Amino acid sequence: MSSTQGTTQGVIPAQLLRGQKALVTGANSGIGRATAVALGRAGADVVVNYVTGGEEAEKVVEEITGLGVRAAAYEADVSDEQQVVAMMDRMVREFGTIDILVANAGLQRDAPFTEMTLAQWQKVLDVNLTGQFLCAREATKEFLRRGVVPEVSRAAGKIICMSSVHQIIPWAGHVNYASSKGGVQMMMETLAQELAPKKIRVNAIAPGAIKTPINRSAWETPQAREDLLRLIPYDRIGEPEDIGHAAVGLASDLMDYVVGATLYVDGGMTLFPGFATGG
Ligand code: NAD
Repeated sequence: MSSTQGTTQGVIPAQLLRGQKALVTGANSGIGRATAVALGRAGADVVVNYVTGGEEAEKVVEEITGLGVRAAAYEADVSDEQQVVAMMDRMVREFGTIDILVANAGLQRDAPFTEMTLAQWQKVLDVNLTGQFLCAREATKEFLRRGVVPEVSRAAGKIICMSSVHQIIPWAGHVNYASSKGGVQMMMETLAQELAPKKIRVNAIAPGAIKTPINRSAWETPQAREDLLRLIPYDRIGEPEDIGHAAVGLASDLMDYVVGATLYVDGGMTLFPGFATGG
């Protein structure tokens, strides 16, 4: 993966999230990594969650602390209730509280429908949907306990669910993944409705095609790249930083009135690009 160093410099106002404590799950790679660094650049202290790849997580921590804010790497499987509870307890103990959760951890286990095993189905639902449920629930308990601290933020807490364009675009060969993201959409909107009166803002980012290890085969070869670009009106594959920037904006008070929204960050992938010339 390309380093995120430098690419966001000068773009993100350094004080935007000053004094806020953020947790990003699956933050030792790809989008999570870029989001954790972008939040740090905006002045937040950041917990970098990982489940495997502790060394990578430590590198992200180093990059973030180099920005002059606090960071730490916490190991936890987001699909394991006890581990999520323990992670949140530790964050409150060591960082004082949590203001921003980016529920980003996710994976794919692809297979044609009739060959998909129950284990493949279950694993993707467990991590992509149940993992977000568990992290959001534990973060919300702390938001409610603490309430609004006006010097820090107008909201008592912000939750950003990492969804996908596949929350609305069906995806043959990936029924587990598309179902998990469809679930994330309804979970996010329901939580947004339920928690808005408590001044907790729940929103989602739906990335299009972003260059990370999760979809290497879709951008690695020139042919794959060409095929992919045909689906993207803006004619470039997304970078993890594109999502990091969106997360900083959504988490900040600049977007305090944004509640229950999905921000599609996809270069126009959801605009039915086939209809640009057909239909
Ligand atoms: P990635 O593989 O680089 O990162 C996924 C991260 O999640 C990794 O750090 C991985 O270790 C972690 N993870 C997996 N299972 C976990 C678990 N049980 N507990 C904690 N962490 C776990 O891929 P990415 O592209 O950066 O994906 C991040 C998120 O963005 C995912 O939710 C993915 O569905 C979503 N997304 C990605 C794209 C894209 O084009 N890359 C598009 C749409 C949505």
